[in-house]
Amino acid sequence: MAEVLVVVEASQGVAKKVTLEMLTLARTLGDVSAVVLGGSAAALADKLGEFGASKIYAAEGEDLDGYLVAGKATVLAALIQRVSPAAVLLASSQEGKEIAGRVAVKLDNGLLTDVVALDADGVGTQVVFAGSTIVKSKVSKGLPIVTVRPNSLTPTPAPATPSVEQVEVALTDKDKLAKVVERKVEAKGARPELAEASIVVSGGRGVGSADNFKLVEELADLLGGAVGASRAAVDSGFYPHQFQVGQTGKTVSPQLYVALGISGAIQHRAGMQTSKTIIAVNKDAEAPIFELADFGVVGDLFKVVPQAAEEIRKR
Ligand code: FAD
Repeated sequence: MAEVLVVVEASQGVAKKVTLEMLTLARTLGDVSAVVLGGSAAALADKLGEFGASKIYAAEGEDLDGYLVAGKATVLAALIQRVSPAAVLLASSQEGKEIAGRVAVKLDNGLLTDVVALDADGVGTQVVFAGSTIVKSKVSKGLPIVTVRPNSLTPTPAPATPSVEQVEVALTDKDKLAKVVERKVEAKGARPELAEASIVVSGGRGVGSADNFKLVEELADLLGGAVGASRAAVDSGFYPHQFQVGQTGKTVSPQLYVALGISGAIQHRAGMQTSKTIIAVNKDAEAPIFELADFGVVGDLFKVVPQAAEEIRKR
């Protein structure tokens, strides 16, 4: 079977959910090899094996961790030239897209970004215009280099015991133009990361103020979920931008999405419509969010949420 490369995205030695999704997708395309660019491959090996990586290419060392992504693109391009994989998958994250773009240029190759599915013929599916249009496209020059949108599929394990091959890291002077001078890891709160959470409680303009967002946080904490916000809530200064859900924010696909005081504009739906179960609380019975919701409460969130919280506390 053809070899498919999955470029691992990890944070503090832990593989991100999107990596497990890519491994799951890659298994439908061929033999899965994970590529670790920087950090420690040993710390990730068990998880990568659990989700079907039969091989790990480990490119490690200060040269990759100490500079921005140009060097990672150089190493990946050299690996692709050496092993001629059937496809290369990267996360549709800031870093994944930058590496993919640089590699495509280096190899004079085509590129598909933000796919939610990829078939064995290399045809990728992209959801565009806030989820209203589905595009099927294929790389017509070179191999499929593809970035995969997080939360596009459910990761499933398929245990394998990966072999590890060290990859030579030979950066050019150009790769060393931008050096990392400081790395600050944001203090991780008790809440799960928004894009990876299985429960998300989001607040919109209807929440009314930054102070009132405590109500959203309280419900999220009771449910063990992450907090999200609509753009109107973010633009009004109620909650920070990194928690925005939607077309110009994060895409989430949790088991449970709770929308509080959110009307359900198409741009908001674009970031949450694949959630498994959607509960909406809105005082306007005509709000479009109810077209999407599995369960809806027409009511004032300032009455409904405290009552729900009280019930949850009792259990
Ligand atoms: P509103 O539409 O004002 O809705 C507030 C809702 O709260 C209303 O339905 C109201 O009935 C309800 N409400 C008020 N008070 C209460 C109460 N006490 N109890 C219960 N319900 C109450 N939006 C995003 O969210 N994410 C994006 O990424 C995004 N990207 C965009 C990109 C572009 C290019 C554009 C043009 C727009 C984008 N938007 C995005 C904005 C989007 O069009 C909407 O304006 C926004 O989603 C509205 O947010 P909202 O639902 O919180 O506010």
